[in-house]
Amino acid sequence: MLPLVALVGRPNVGKSTLFNAFTRTRDALVHDQPGVTRDRNYGVCRLNEDHPFLVVDTGGIAGEEEGLAGATARQARAAAAEADLILFVVDAREGPMDDEILSWLRKLARPTLLLINKIDGMNEDTVRSEFARYGFGEMLTVSAAHRQGLDDLLDEVVERLPEEGTTETLDTDPNRIRIAFVGRPNVGKSTLVNRLLGEERMIASEVPGTTRDSIAVDMERDGREYRLIDTAGLRRKARVEEVVEKFSVIKTLQAIEQCQVAVLMLDASEGVTDQDASVLGAVLDAGRALVVAINKWDGLTDYQREQAEALVSRKLGFVPWAEVVRISAKHGSGLRELFRCIHAAHASATHEFSTSEVNKALEVAYETNPPPAIRGHVSKLRYVHPGGSNPPTFIVHGTRLKDLPESYKRYLENFFRKRFKLVGTPVQFIFREGV
Ligand code: GDP
Ligand code: GDP
Repeated sequence: MLPLVALVGRPNVGKSTLFNAFTRTRDALVHDQPGVTRDRNYGVCRLNEDHPFLVVDTGGIAGEEEGLAGATARQARAAAAEADLILFVVDAREGPMDDEILSWLRKLARPTLLLINKIDGMNEDTVRSEFARYGFGEMLTVSAAHRQGLDDLLDEVVERLPEEGTTETLDTDPNRIRIAFVGRPNVGKSTLVNRLLGEERMIASEVPGTTRDSIAVDMERDGREYRLIDTAGLRRKARVEEVVEKFSVIKTLQAIEQCQVAVLMLDASEGVTDQDASVLGAVLDAGRALVVAINKWDGLTDYQREQAEALVSRKLGFVPWAEVVRISAKHGSGLRELFRCIHAAHASATHEFSTSEVNKALEVAYETNPPPAIRGHVSKLRYVHPGGSNPPTFIVHGTRLKDLPESYKRYLENFFRKRFKLVGTPVQFIFREGV
């Protein structure tokens, strides 16, 4: 499970600026893709590669009690209550005027770090002595807007997070594919999961829970083994009260983190909504293999099917590598194809490349189409080595790589995809200057 960090503070202290700084994607897997929307409250910080953590911006959590009706706000409040670390953000310019939140935090009694933001242009000693009365042993000062002090902040945060990290429920059995069925409420996740588990009568030993009651279930289908990672569907079956909180962003993010293949479920009659796009963005950020399942295909006329096809292919045009299957969770149709895609995606995502085969590929790609000169400079690609799987990662070494155009990077990606027949998974290229 990813540890959870909650940003708590009055409006305007800089929480969302911090949130954005934390959750900005570092590498080029997603960039700012049209078609990907970002959840403004929930994200994963991957700035420290070895210690990713969940970030929740609880904007508006105190202050406006009345406005807490929305499920998102309720979730944010609950998130703060079970956060591994709370960043209590205050404003250096405004001075200490956060007493309401302070007393709420005292009652909550979670590990809390006082973070004084907007320190730019302020006298640090003065500010510190002002906030001393809050009684925190330690205070951190940053300027989120100017990205000052964020490296130190990141170190402090990581140091305070629980050790167990992400590997706890990671299952290294190569024969068992970890799948998460993800999507917004009502697309049919639990119908599908229940059907899958029901079909195979001999269900499902629950995998012993980790912290914060995560649930995974193992199942077998056509002689293959799978682990279904904590999805709404599983939970609904296991715990009735989960129905109340139908869609938990945090659990979705956790499930994505722990799976190898994410099956993004869509409702055929509703196309691709913003919420779908936000779940998709989380899958891509995490670098997980992806299969898109358009559910409720049974209920549609031919005309509606055409419409749905067109809409989905337009909205998902930017992930051309993802396979799309049409299913009916209700009637159980399309499931064989769904599992074929899951296997293909898993095989691509976890393939182990040899250094020689990837170098051969780079050589051929380079000779077929060398990088163009940019302002008189030509990038040289010297060699490449495999840098990991799920997603397949290739580390390219060379010179003047800063001048390598995006279009050439896409060419390389497509070349590798084609040559190694990679489907259903993002592919990551990392460019390193020098030898
Ligand atoms: P939130 O309401 O707590 O999420 O606060 P925002 O992140 O929206 O920031 C509120 C305002 O403070 C915005 O105008 C930001 O540009 C500004 N701001 C955020 N961080 C800093 C900072 O480090 N220094 C300065 N001077 N302004 C900041
Ligand atoms: P979840 O919130 O994503 O877990 O969605 P549910 O599994 O609870 O399904 C929401 C609603 O859609 C329920 O009323 C289901 O009966 C219905 N539903 C699920 N799958 C299908 C399907 O394949 N076809 C049709 N027509 N309805 C479905």
